[in-house]
Amino acid sequence: MSALPESSRALPEDAHSDSDSGSSTSDPLDLSKDEGWEDVEQDEEESQPIVSLFSDKVFPDARSMLNDCKENFNFDLLKVQKELGLDFLGTIRLVNYIRSEVKAGNTTPDVSSASLFDDAKYLRPLLEDDALLYSLDDLTEEVVGDGKGKQAETAGSTTRIRELEEELERMRGDFEEYKTIVKRSLDKELSNTAASASGKSEASASGKFHEAESGYFTSYSYNAIHESMLKDSVRTDAYRDFIYDNKSLFKDKVVLDVGCGTGILSMFCAKAGAKMVIAVDNSDIIDRAREIVYDNGFGDVIKCIRGKIEEVQLPVPQVDVIVSEWMGYCLLFEAMFDSVIWARDRYLAPDGLMVPSHATLQIAPLADPDLVDSHISFWNSVYGFKMSSMLLNIYDEALVRCIPKPEETIVAKASPFLQLPLHTITVEELTFIKEFEVTLNADIDALDGWVVWFDMFFMPSRTSKVSENAVPADMRKEGLVAFSTGPFDTETHWQQGVFLINREKKAGLPLKKGQVIKGHVEYRKKDEKSRLLDIGIDWDVEGVEEGGRQEWSLQ
Ligand code: SAH
Repeated sequence: MSALPESSRALPEDAHSDSDSGSSTSDPLDLSKDEGWEDVEQDEEESQPIVSLFSDKVFPDARSMLNDCKENFNFDLLKVQKELGLDFLGTIRLVNYIRSEVKAGNTTPDVSSASLFDDAKYLRPLLEDDALLYSLDDLTEEVVGDGKGKQAETAGSTTRIRELEEELERMRGDFEEYKTIVKRSLDKELSNTAASASGKSEASASGKFHEAESGYFTSYSYNAIHESMLKDSVRTDAYRDFIYDNKSLFKDKVVLDVGCGTGILSMFCAKAGAKMVIAVDNSDIIDRAREIVYDNGFGDVIKCIRGKIEEVQLPVPQVDVIVSEWMGYCLLFEAMFDSVIWARDRYLAPDGLMVPSHATLQIAPLADPDLVDSHISFWNSVYGFKMSSMLLNIYDEALVRCIPKPEETIVAKASPFLQLPLHTITVEELTFIKEFEVTLNADIDALDGWVVWFDMFFMPSRTSKVSENAVPADMRKEGLVAFSTGPFDTETHWQQGVFLINREKKAGLPLKKGQVIKGHVEYRKKDEKSRLLDIGIDWDVEGVEEGGRQEWSLQ
């Protein structure tokens, strides 16, 4: 996790984006191609015997193992499956539950209710390479096939057949997803083994990249971060209001939720009438999302898929709407928008809609001696101790703070320095140098720094325009949906980016109301695939010897 405030959006050490997935092609350990799974699957089928649910005995196939369980342990897996109405994942959980109970010494596990094993932990194979799990698909198909035949014969009902076919289709989808889960844990184990065998995992750039990536997604697996996002009502209300106020844009549409987290945006869309919502997330939070979706009765509409959006296979070639909450500190920290752009270019229909649709970055000058005192001078005496060594490189890091008393400390109307039309902007345009210009609205003793924030707009059409000077609060009065993360509006978990000017060598000069400051803001990723951001600002005050250039890291 980053050293940023707990309530903020999380980010681990040097996490990287992987939007071009370039590293995978040359990685000999990369099993992300389909063939990787096929190999594993075929091997299992050819050579992996099935271990009994109740003993160490092995059987050549699932059916003979299950017969043995019936005869010798009075346990009929298919009967339990049928009685409890278990779907594919339910059956997986049952198998792993039984195996864990037997392992713990209980050879007569209680299977009276599915709630006994209704826990995501039972999705993880208890036995390494458990060939029984790979065979469930066939067993399940047989059961479904039987039911279909009987039903058709007795009732002659084509509706029932169609229902069963749909169920089979869903089970197939579940099975595909389960294969992906198993493949991933196999991938992880293989790359760990190979890394420790080569003895230089830490040194290798690709090792570091994978570590940072997995750290990034791990940071999204905890409750706290989702709690802080969901409780950020400025943020969550905006998505809800746009979706509920514009139901016609979602009715009968296929929606892609990039980075679904707990599934909140997917459920808004489902409630607004979407025909299908594909909810993708590469964090373990997806297991929670899947349960949340089922618990709220959206199991038929929302399809949860684990994986990076750049790597998963979607069940459709094209979507009508992409909804995503991808914004990081100073908008582009985390580089998640790169992934959303990737998804947009790959899946969004030519007339499809991005939600949200526009963003604007703003900068304003700061004159706040109290903040400088509390952040810099503070270290000169902490409980009476000198901690000046803590001042080393202190000006190199950007702060993420809510500016208190902005009406006194933000000393000019903000200047918008980049407008992002989210339907068309490219990843290349997210690295930039842009001009800004502000006019001081007060006399100040010195310029202490710069404050950066962003505004978000949710327009109902891809051709809607948002002017550079659009004010979210004014747009809301017109019935549109927009919000600002700026210091004059309700606080959000993004707070503001604060860039303090290094005054170690050169003190700031007093400046007068009406003086114009012109400058540039530069946004650059720390390195090619980094999720971290370096921000540079240069400025000049007209007619005065005050100006400079400085770089800060946001990490
Ligand atoms: N949509 C949720 C969560 C937003 S946080 C909400 O609004 O509350 C962003 C989520 O995107 C995280 O859960 C993170 O794991 C996921 N994410 C980021 N990049 C991703 C990628 N490339 N592929 C899949 N998921 C991604």
